[in-house]
Amino acid sequence: LSQTIEMAVTDSLTGLHNRRYLDSHMSMLFTRSISRERPLSVLMTDIDHFKRINDTYGHDAGDDVLRDFAGRLHRNIRGIDLACRYGGEEFVVVLPDTDAQMAAVVAERIRGTVASTPFLIRNGTTGVDVTISIGLASLQPRDDSVEKLFKRADIALYEAKKNGRNRVVGAVA
Ligand code: C2E
Ligand code: C2E
Repeated sequence: LSQTIEMAVTDSLTGLHNRRYLDSHMSMLFTRSISRERPLSVLMTDIDHFKRINDTYGHDAGDDVLRDFAGRLHRNIRGIDLACRYGGEEFVVVLPDTDAQMAAVVAERIRGTVASTPFLIRNGTTGVDVTISIGLASLQPRDDSVEKLFKRADIALYEAKKNGRNRVVGAVA
């Protein structure tokens, strides 16, 4: 049974948590942060021009990039942080007890670890340059729902894309 539950909350391609897991845990993290008056930050993360990678190199290569990115993500956050595959090439990182300033350190580290080293595809024979854009938002005392926090992260991600990609943009509080 536990294996079934594990599968239900895991993204099979990347091994990260899936959106279902995030949705079920986020309200708890949100409530806890509010009641304890502790910070909470989210990073809305999207691989730049992912469709171009798929179109140029094929879907297997796209899958390699998603898996490699998930690994880099996982290796660069703490055990208590939560990384999840949110949709196709969109990932969400939740950072409990982390304010906007500290979250920016983490986001910049993740961005850098992607941009600095090409991703290997085609059994390691080909390297592709990949970049990501990140929208960062932190919990505000007036937030009355998880959706508001996510909405700000989404808008910040949109700004990051609009301003040229390969960058971290913090939400306007
Ligand atoms: P730093 O790397 O400049 O990180 C500054 C602060 O950002 C950290 O302060 C922490 O509050 C936050 N932060 C950074 N990375 C993460 C993260 O992945 N997840 C979360 N939730 N928060 C993060 P803190 O904890 O006082 O750490 C001070 C310094 O100690 C760090 O400065 C870093 O130089 C070092 N450090 C702490 N833990 C680790 C670790 O697991 N690995 C490495 N390589 N260095 C660490
Ligand atoms: P962890 O806390 O689960 O962190 C996993 C990885 O996230 C770290 O691998 C590092 O790549 C990144 N990371 C987390 N926090 C920070 C940070 O504050 N700054 C930076 N620059 N990177 C961070 P890493 O460095 O190989 O560390 C592996 C494990 O060793 C960590 O797992 C943690 O359990 C422990 N560790 C390493 N350095 C420190 C430290 O300075 N203080 C404490 N308390 N634990 C540390």
